[in-house]
Amino acid sequence: MRSGTKAGLGVSGWWGLAAHVSLALAAAVVAGLFLGHIGRAVAVVLAVLLLRQLYLLQRVLLWLRADRVDMAPDAGGAWGDVIGLILRLFRRKQYHKRRMRQLLRELRHSTAAIPDGVVMLNPAAEILWFNRSAGELLNLRARGDVGLRIDNLVRRPEFVNYLRTGDFRSSVVVQAGGVSDQYLNFQIVPYGAGQLLLLVRDVTRQAQLEAMRKDFVANASHELRSPLTVISGYLETLAQDDALDAALAGPIHEMRRQALRMTAIVQDLLELSRLEAEGGAPPGEPISVDALMLRLRTDLLARNKSALDVRIEVLATEQLLGTEAQIHSAFANLLENAAKYTPSGGVITMRWSCNEQGGQFSVTDTGIGIAPEHIPRLTERFYRVDAGRSRASGGSGLGLAIVKHVLQRHGATLQIESEEGRGSTFTCLFPPARLWPATQGH
Ligand code: ADP
Repeated sequence: MRSGTKAGLGVSGWWGLAAHVSLALAAAVVAGLFLGHIGRAVAVVLAVLLLRQLYLLQRVLLWLRADRVDMAPDAGGAWGDVIGLILRLFRRKQYHKRRMRQLLRELRHSTAAIPDGVVMLNPAAEILWFNRSAGELLNLRARGDVGLRIDNLVRRPEFVNYLRTGDFRSSVVVQAGGVSDQYLNFQIVPYGAGQLLLLVRDVTRQAQLEAMRKDFVANASHELRSPLTVISGYLETLAQDDALDAALAGPIHEMRRQALRMTAIVQDLLELSRLEAEGGAPPGEPISVDALMLRLRTDLLARNKSALDVRIEVLATEQLLGTEAQIHSAFANLLENAAKYTPSGGVITMRWSCNEQGGQFSVTDTGIGIAPEHIPRLTERFYRVDAGRSRASGGSGLGLAIVKHVLQRHGATLQIESEEGRGSTFTCLFPPARLWPATQGH
């Protein structure tokens, strides 16, 4: 036996065999001529040749069945070629297998080293594989948990909903259960034929910082409210005091104006904090948008002294499902802005319409408009196109941030169209699920 057959493989072995058979047959014919039995001589030679081939075939079959490559039979000629070709195929397969194994090992080592958790899931959300970080973050056991559904192991409702919806464009932050105050960010990335890659990140620190920021703003605004009320109260009394020196009237008027601005800012900050604290979208009650628009118009005209034409267009009978106080605040902010940034004599139109895409509430004005470069940033806190003008009109710079928050909580978006010098349209786009047919009653 030998461990392999010569590699220079062609059909030489076959030619050798053919020559061998031909020679043997020729010899049989010659011998037959001498002996006077050509037929028998040829038959004997053929039988010997056949037996030899059967023997070699048997050895090759035994070798292949034994699954021992190093025990290749020592056969020359055509069978040697066959064995050589089989060995070559086998070695090539072995080489690729080794390379794949090495690649897989490297891949596993590198994913194991990633600080983020990685879990591979099949289309039925069953765990195929996970790295060390995922094991630590989600408390997974390498032996017992592979093959189990991930939502049987990670049971927080936010995650289970995220997995069920199948909408993986964004990630979801989940507070780990129990006494732990750990926050985990889950992001699912679909790949291949329905497989899912689950990425898990510990975002506890970011979540704590965010919570601290929210708490700080809420507490600071809350603490500022009482002293501001006292200052405003005294300034009010002073302004009404007839015995007051006339030279002081101007400064006191300005102080009152600034105190009112500060109060407005503090109120808006508190409202934003409240909106941030109330998580999740409320189902809400049906709101009559036409009645709300009438109220907003009356309130605005009572407060606003400039001559503005405020129109209402009701193009739909549907009601809006939401939290009335919040919707009122958002719509009032939009109307307030339209009035603030539209000179006397301008027209403001509030419109309510519905189509298959949902409900649209819009406020259109014929005011100063906004340059296109500012539009994407308008809903940022304290962002103002013209800080001086906004302050002069008593703006806090938080109005549109509040509008955005309220709309987000109602699954709606804000669309802003504007042309400088001609006016603006702010449209709240509500999804169809937020509409309530008028005939259905309350
Ligand atoms: P502010 O209290 O300053 O009005 P907002 O957040 O409500 O703050 O608005 C942000 C900025 O957007 C405003 O400072 C203003 O420059 C611009 N803006 C908002 N509404 C309008 C409008 N209808 N017309 C023109 N500019 C507007």
